[in-house]
Amino acid sequence: MLSKLNPPQREAVKYLDGPLLVLAGAGSGKTRVITHKIAYLIETCGISASNIAAITFTNKAAREMQERVGKLLQGKAARGLTVTTFHSLGLHILRQEAKHLGYKPRFSVLDASDSAGILNDILKTTDKKEIRRAQSVISNWKNAMLSPAAAAEAAQDETERQLAKIYQAYQDTLRAYQAMDFDDLIRLPVELFENVPEALEKWSNKLRYLLIDEYQDTNTCQYKLVKLLSGSRGAFTAVGDDDQAIYAWRGANVENLHLLQNDFPNLQVIKLEQNYRSTVRILRAANTLIANNPKLFEKKLWSDLGLGDPIQVMAAKDDEQEAENVVMRLQTHKFQNRTRFADYAILYRGNHQARIFEQQLRNEKIPYLLSGGQSFFDRTEIKDIIAYLRLLANSDDDPAFIRAVTTPRRGIGTGTLEKLGNYAAERHISLFAAAFEAGLEHQLGAKQHHPLLEFCNFINNLTDRAEREPCAEVMADLLNAIGYEAWLFDQEEDRPAQTKWNNVLEFVAWINKKGEEDGKTVIELTQTIALINILDSREDQDVDAVRLSTLHAAKGLEYPHVFLVGVEEGILPHRESVDNGQIEEERRLMYVGITRAQKGLTLSHCHKRKRAGEWQKCDPSRFIGELHQEDLRGAGRGETDPEAQKAEGSARLAQIRAMLGK
Ligand code: ATP
Ligand code: MG
Repeated sequence: MLSKLNPPQREAVKYLDGPLLVLAGAGSGKTRVITHKIAYLIETCGISASNIAAITFTNKAAREMQERVGKLLQGKAARGLTVTTFHSLGLHILRQEAKHLGYKPRFSVLDASDSAGILNDILKTTDKKEIRRAQSVISNWKNAMLSPAAAAEAAQDETERQLAKIYQAYQDTLRAYQAMDFDDLIRLPVELFENVPEALEKWSNKLRYLLIDEYQDTNTCQYKLVKLLSGSRGAFTAVGDDDQAIYAWRGANVENLHLLQNDFPNLQVIKLEQNYRSTVRILRAANTLIANNPKLFEKKLWSDLGLGDPIQVMAAKDDEQEAENVVMRLQTHKFQNRTRFADYAILYRGNHQARIFEQQLRNEKIPYLLSGGQSFFDRTEIKDIIAYLRLLANSDDDPAFIRAVTTPRRGIGTGTLEKLGNYAAERHISLFAAAFEAGLEHQLGAKQHHPLLEFCNFINNLTDRAEREPCAEVMADLLNAIGYEAWLFDQEEDRPAQTKWNNVLEFVAWINKKGEEDGKTVIELTQTIALINILDSREDQDVDAVRLSTLHAAKGLEYPHVFLVGVEEGILPHRESVDNGQIEEERRLMYVGITRAQKGLTLSHCHKRKRAGEWQKCDPSRFIGELHQEDLRGAGRGETDPEAQKAEGSARLAQIRAMLGK
């Protein structure tokens, strides 16, 4: 097993005398160190898999890691191994320890749009900007482990005092609903471990060795969790690359790399310098680019994979032509080199850039997989069904109750709901609980009360069954009973209704499959649904399709050929970041993009694009100018006229099509 590692990697795998940080550039085998170390701990050191936890950045990365370890151990004893994201680990801990925190084990997990909904009610506004601002302030406070009271105390001015009040109201609401948001999934385990020593002891005895990938993107709370769990033993290996820190906007803090050194004076640091991913030219591009950032740590990276092809720079007249050119070049390249579609990735800064490429790929009948886009689980029809599941798991979940009881409408009017809401609020009970009270029945009268009671009884019955029966049966009966399909077709034209219904069926098939695979009930699965990250694509790895992804979602991955598109001022670097002086984070993002490529790298930009219906002039990104110019080909140095390039591309493609007889 160790023979497939270089000497410093081997050293990192074998080092068990204390905390270890592997600090190294992209593609140097940091993730490989983690997978091999897990196998080494299990096979050579005889540590039980159930005492090891590896933490990855996405669920997808977790699945992949689990698979790789399985392969390394050739099927031996990887059972019980925890490979998970910080959030899933937090959820796993909280489910078992909820009582210490005054929660029931079946609390609801809210995603960002659910919590925006709650803030919407508190702020009495639908102004998205205002809601987002409150969300981000609250999130920062949570990550800094500040309670609402502490936030109020620390408030410097009226605005902050106001926000602290909103924070308080938000927390009270979550409590009342027995719900947690994403930040709570990390913050509450930290709070628990700080206050309940038995709980900490139990979990640090269980998770005796921690391995953390993408360490540069952990936030303060996550850092604390690692520190608490690994205790004075400092039994952990963290791997990271400060040049790839791209989540500052979500509270991640590269300074955690320094904190490790302060908090663990015996921290061993190992550096890896050989890159096994990219050719020399690609690596040189990455190195010269990132040399423009001030360095936290000195790192060198080299590759012996040969000089490789020059880096192509493509310029297009406008965004549509950019998509055409990119897809054309991709097709030509694939044809000439007999590669697979899956060997290509188109990477971009923001989700909104995907649409035009999707369109073009569809025109050309090229299969593609999109990740990092709007989550499937964020669609209205899916959220409607999830509301029922949340209610089955946690009847205190008022937002789920409101959504379920009104979708489809079942003769329960706003008047009834208002009275129900007031009744529940006065008594500090959930809507669900209030529905059963004689006092409410009296207020509403039997006629209005009846449909409400019927709904709640239906939920109660289904809850009973959901605890015991297989997912598939419960889901089928749920859909039947609520008449969702008929309702969809009532609400909308046939086509959109059919699309939505197909999505619902796909969701149900997915949850049934998960239920069967993991031997879990629908109730047990419900909490994890919110955690399905927008960074995770739903599809399988093995599909032969072009990958479309945001740069953020491409972290840690590699592709033979990468098209980095929209490499323009205002996009990469993003305008807001330029205005806020966050150019270094943008440069790291570009660095992440470049270092995904193994053999081929194409940077593309266009001269104008439509924004909000208006044409805007675009300049090539300053980052192109920062690269080693001798390695670039194409329009990078203003030589090629986009029209000429397009004509040339079309001619080439026509040739190929003719040969293919298309
Ligand atoms: P990133 O910073 O992008 O996350 P990384 O440092 O985690 O990159 P890996 O993904 O672990 O790097 O490795 C990059 C590629 O190099 C992978 O394909 C991996 O299999 C290969 N690799 C790493 N180490 C070795 C080695 N010693 N011998 C052969 N191949 C290696
Ligand atoms: Mg990695």
